[in-house]
Amino acid sequence: MSWICANCQKKLSGRKGKRFCDSICKNEYHNKMRLANAEVTQTIDSFMHRNRTILFEIYLEKRIKKYFVTKAYLTKKGFKFKYHTGSTVNSQGKTYHYIYDFRYMEFSSDQIMVLKN
Ligand SMILES: [Zn+2]
Repeated sequence: MSWICANCQKKLSGRKGKRFCDSICKNEYHNKMRLANAEVTQTIDSFMHRNRTILFEIYLEKRIKKYFVTKAYLTKKGFKFKYHTGSTVNSQGKTYHYIYDFRYMEFSSDQIMVLKN
């Protein structure tokens, strides 16, 4: 039975379950994984942070924990509806999307209801 190094794909021998040739390959592999993860997660994180900033700025203007805003306005501000930190469906079947300490739902075809925790 033989294995290959997860980093350089060279044939490995030795103990079962060994994943890398040596500590250099192990470090290279983990650095590559860290970079690959960072590329994706940093982009998505920045979208969610931007979404939170947009909701927070409107909240600071209105000074109320429950407000309505148009979908067009949010889109114009750069809000990306695809990215949120979670979602739930309430007993009336309405979906709430979470952006950290905010949640919102489509109140009508153009109105978004936003609630701050
Ligand atoms: Zn290797």
